[in-house]
Amino acid sequence: MTDEAVDILIAGGGPVGAALALALEDSGHSVVLAEARSADSREARSADSGGARATDTRGAPAAAGDARAIALSHGSRLILERLRAWQALPVTPITTIHISQQGGFGRTLIRAADCGLPALGYVANYDDLQQSLLAAPCSARRLFGARLTGFDGGKATVQTQQEELAFAPRLMVFADGARIAEAAAPAYSKDYKQTALVAWVKAEQAHQGRAWERFTAEGPLALLPHASGYALVWTASPDRGARLAALDTPAFLAELQASFGSRLGAFIEAGARSAFPLALRYRREESLPHSLCVGNAAQTLHPVAGQGFNLGLRDAWELARLARDAREPGSDSFINAYRRARALDRRASIQFTDSLVGLFSNSDPLLALGRGAGLLALDLLPFARRFAARRMIYGARGLP
Ligand SMILES: Cc1cc2nc3c(=O)[nH]c(=O)nc-3n(C[C@H](O)[C@H](O)[C@H](O)COP(=O)(O)OP(=O)(O)OC[C@H]3O[C@@H](n4cnc5c(N)ncnc54)[C@H](O)[C@@H]3O)c2cc1C
Repeated sequence: MTDEAVDILIAGGGPVGAALALALEDSGHSVVLAEARSADSREARSADSGGARATDTRGAPAAAGDARAIALSHGSRLILERLRAWQALPVTPITTIHISQQGGFGRTLIRAADCGLPALGYVANYDDLQQSLLAAPCSARRLFGARLTGFDGGKATVQTQQEELAFAPRLMVFADGARIAEAAAPAYSKDYKQTALVAWVKAEQAHQGRAWERFTAEGPLALLPHASGYALVWTASPDRGARLAALDTPAFLAELQASFGSRLGAFIEAGARSAFPLALRYRREESLPHSLCVGNAAQTLHPVAGQGFNLGLRDAWELARLARDAREPGSDSFINAYRRARALDRRASIQFTDSLVGLFSNSDPLLALGRGAGLLALDLLPFARRFAARRMIYGARGLP
């Protein structure tokens, strides 16, 4: 079998790999994207849920495959618009974010108006996001049910249901999410010993565009406005997470009520729950030649600040920008230029997210006092609020 020559092979058609394939349009390079999940499974996921674009009869978001909701920053919106993946994506705007801590003083309210923007961010289903990116017009060859099974620095093998394909990519891009866990090369890894329980929930009070982030000793509890209810991301110890996931709906809603309080009235409905173990993982160097990692394959963050996809999208955008001028995208100089270009944003996002987890997932009374003072200061100082909001919206390097 002869190896098929291709300029860029992307392994993984999750939201980041799919975005990269779109961003490489007009780069002058031939691109193949291999996604392990079959087209059937993607269609089945949206059919199961009554159609990815729809809300169900209760007004709940319809995706049932991955219950995760993704908060997209305004910066991501700008990129998705350019990729023509925004226009058909169902989203709920976030116009204010209320941040507080359980059992402590201090709270802050960040408003879109503080930043001169129509919204601080937008909430979308993970599945809808991936579908919109995979459905946008693209000349890359997109293979579904195609799993990367090997790459030795030169040759890549991809297994489809029918056959094994062999490619000789000039640049291999890992966008397969789990790669850090699987690869032999050293990666930094820290287990937060926390589980994120996600579900769609409905409360008596309508959200009016407000997101709630409440820090508890076990971790943050976030309620993001989503369709006619909220996307819940509830961080808890693994034991408690497993117990919450197994509760029947009334008992689950009662526990949520006890943890969040009555600001939104009673919680009255909950959709399917999924649990995600949380860890920080990132790769310092890619060990294989002619290859790069983007998105979760490069760094997996705690979801506390909703940074993971937004950061991964900036990886994809920057890589495509550099590739446009590159004659040899797999060369050392190209790979080093990419690493340099991404280093600051990556480091800042990892540190910001990790510090938030350390600072807020803690019951130390002194830290609680400091947190309260910090939230109060943020509330009183418009420039500090603007800084925090812009940092989350655009990343450390500013506008895309
Ligand atoms: C509970 C939770 C909440 C989150 N909330 C937010 C948020 O609000 N905002 C935000 O920005 N981020 C959020 N994130 C992070 C976000 O989900 C990830 O950063 C994002 O999904 C990364 O996308 P990706 O494409 O890199 O990887 P993935 O989403 O993991 O996709 C990887 C893809 O690769 C495919 N694949 C795997 N192996 C292979 C292979 N060998 N060959 C071919 N294909 C393969 C998989 O099928 C999959 O489609 C959250 C994460 C969690 C767990």
